[in-house]
Amino acid sequence: MITVKAVPILSDNYAWLLRCSETGTTAIVDPAETVPVAAAIDAAGGRLDLVLLTHHHGDHIEGTDDIRARYGAKVVGASADAHRLPKLDQAVAARDSFKVGAATAQVMESPGHTRGHISFYFADGGVLLPGDTLFSLGCGRLLEGSAAEMFGSLAQFATLPGDTLVCCGHEYTEANARFAVHADPDNGSLATYAAKVKALRSDGKATIPSYLFDELACNPFLRAKTVAELADLRGRKDKF
Ligand code: ZN
Ligand code: FE
Repeated sequence: MITVKAVPILSDNYAWLLRCSETGTTAIVDPAETVPVAAAIDAAGGRLDLVLLTHHHGDHIEGTDDIRARYGAKVVGASADAHRLPKLDQAVAARDSFKVGAATAQVMESPGHTRGHISFYFADGGVLLPGDTLFSLGCGRLLEGSAAEMFGSLAQFATLPGDTLVCCGHEYTEANARFAVHADPDNGSLATYAAKVKALRSDGKATIPSYLFDELACNPFLRAKTVAELADLRGRKDKF
């Protein structure tokens, strides 16, 4: 089974340390800063087998070559973005899968934030790594992709089991909650969840990972019924 640990990096990013409980195989997702990521790996026993990359932005890939060199890990990323990612040892595409120890990682193409964005899903452990596609109570900005692509990406996530842990790339939840409550003022589940987020943040605690069932109940972007509704929400959030 895959277990996860958040590694806070940069100002509001998370790298994710994954470990297979059967074999001890270890992977890091989006290691954009060397020092805190290496400290987390060393604290977990100093083993690193794989680096998994969700997309090409600097705040997700920057530490990759350092971390690869230090631990001898293999780097996995999107074949579509191989030209703008660190050198890949394994290039993957939609519906590919690969092993992290005894667990299977499923590759999901999740365009919208960037064209070549991919996400990783582990059914064994119930862990989703959506990078900057899905955030808690929000979604990524449409920097390269269209609203239709983002809609399709979010719709794929919505089919996963509700108790899936959403291990996204940024601690944006509190600001996202302000917009979500503004966009969906009559959603009682959201009001309750937003209050919980506010309390966690004022205690300096992380709001990530979240559960997919909470996102399905509260996240207006994941709840949008049509591409037009999602496009409208995204446009309003950009100016909020
Ligand atoms: Zn990004
Ligand atoms: Fe990012």
